[in-house]
Amino acid sequence: MNEMRVAVLGGGVSGLAAAYFLVRKKERVPFLRVDVYERAPRLGGVVETHVADGAIVERGPDAFFARDEKIFSVLRELGLEDELVAQNPEAGPTYVYHRGRLLPLPPGTEMGVPRRLLSMVRTPLLSPAGKLRAALDFVLPPLDAPGDVSVGEFFRRRFGDEVVEALIEPLVGTVYGAEADVLSLDTLFPAYRDLERRYRSVLLGLRRSSRPSVRGETKSASRAPGAGRFLTLRSGLEELVRRLARALPPDAVHLQTGVEALAWEDGLWKLVLSTGETVSAFVVVSTLPAWELARLLRGMGREDGAALLEEIPYSSTANVAFRFASPPLLGFSGAAILVPPRERRVVSSVSFTSRKWPHTVPPGESLVRVFVDRRSVERYTADAELREAVEEDLARLLGNLPPVRSALVSRFDRSLALYTVGHKERLARIRTYFANLGLPLVVRGAVFTGVGIPDCLTGGERAADEALEHLAALAKRA
Ligand SMILES: Cc1cc2nc3c(=O)[nH]c(=O)nc-3n(C[C@H](O)[C@H](O)[C@H](O)COP(=O)(O)OP(=O)(O)OC[C@H]3O[C@@H](n4cnc5c(N)ncnc54)[C@H](O)[C@@H]3O)c2cc1C
Repeated sequence: MNEMRVAVLGGGVSGLAAAYFLVRKKERVPFLRVDVYERAPRLGGVVETHVADGAIVERGPDAFFARDEKIFSVLRELGLEDELVAQNPEAGPTYVYHRGRLLPLPPGTEMGVPRRLLSMVRTPLLSPAGKLRAALDFVLPPLDAPGDVSVGEFFRRRFGDEVVEALIEPLVGTVYGAEADVLSLDTLFPAYRDLERRYRSVLLGLRRSSRPSVRGETKSASRAPGAGRFLTLRSGLEELVRRLARALPPDAVHLQTGVEALAWEDGLWKLVLSTGETVSAFVVVSTLPAWELARLLRGMGREDGAALLEEIPYSSTANVAFRFASPPLLGFSGAAILVPPRERRVVSSVSFTSRKWPHTVPPGESLVRVFVDRRSVERYTADAELREAVEEDLARLLGNLPPVRSALVSRFDRSLALYTVGHKERLARIRTYFANLGLPLVVRGAVFTGVGIPDCLTGGERAADEALEHLAALAKRA
């Protein structure tokens, strides 16, 4: 029998994980051949580690939240256990830039959402009127309206505008790339809806329920060592990419090979590659951003599917990593600074990377990653201009900066899928669309599985299983 090719589109963590699990489960299909097509000259997608002069600088993700045992079993298989480093517990709290002052985020908040009344009462981030308004959560009735609402709308109703603008917005904005008023409550914080329904008040509900966490993607952590913590890899997260790639057959990865067009002909996929070649495959696993898969579907005449995928908005992000000869802001004990969008600055957050991950720079030096507000990402299109604007704003936030040894600008164009209101329902329609299409096409990638690196790894395994089911069905029909 000829080889049965599964073509994996995209060589980011999702695509590599799908290919890795396919190869690992190869005994189920002896004639399986896996090929990964990646448009860029390197693997990893948004995961990229820059190593220079004894410093390890992550351009994209710098850590992952180890939620449960699943991620550890994959990392163990890849021989990465000894590479794991937990975030420095002494890194310090997160601060919020508030009207010219740096104030600590109150303890007991999760993604900025207060979990304890007392921490809200004590924080100088809220005015007395803001605190009184937040306490109305105890008496306000639940809103039992069907359908998704925005994170902003829900928490403005429960706690008032100040809590959203000073506490919630800076955190969710940094992590999920958009304003709280457009992000989906049902996707990101579904458990708060339940708390409101069951207990009327979110704060009362939090006190009475034993739930350890109410974030959408967060389940209770297992007892695996390191679970429930932020972890990274000593040599940089790109080591994960290298290990996944190393586990594949040497001829499985095709770099600088974009998939330009897809067609379904005579029971086989035809892939037109940017190299000019056309290859065929039994099953296609797409881990492309939704907008790129939409382009391929449109080329197949599937306008309806393309339009559905294009309903998912993406945002572009940028950050500048500054390496200093000595720590900036001497005496500052924080791990990060969040700058609420209402401050209208160039900087949206500052991560004191070498406080969180001391191994990333030689002793005495420091590494600070500065994330850029969306408006400035669009405004400063040249890297030199962006770096200058960020450095100036950073100096305004922190005071005089020590000499900069080097600065690295990283931009990610349309790279972060936004989980906006209605996201779950949108995904359900997309899933139904692909299920009804009846083609051996598996659609995965961060937008469908969750943005975290562990989600991409586990999503890759599910993609592999689905691809194998398609192959088994095809083999039965043959
Ligand atoms: C700046 C930033 C910081 C982040 N920080 C964190 C963090 O700290 N922790 C965390 O857990 N997660 C973080 N994330 C999220 C996480 O890194 C991503 O969700 C995840 O890496 C996405 O992997 P992916 O493979 O799904 O997509 P991608 O990495 O986007 O990979 C898709 C690949 O497809 C390729 N491609 C596109 N079109 C084609 C085509 N036509 N043919 C062939 N190839 C194509 C692209 O070149 C790319 O390599 C961050 C994301 C960003 C952008």
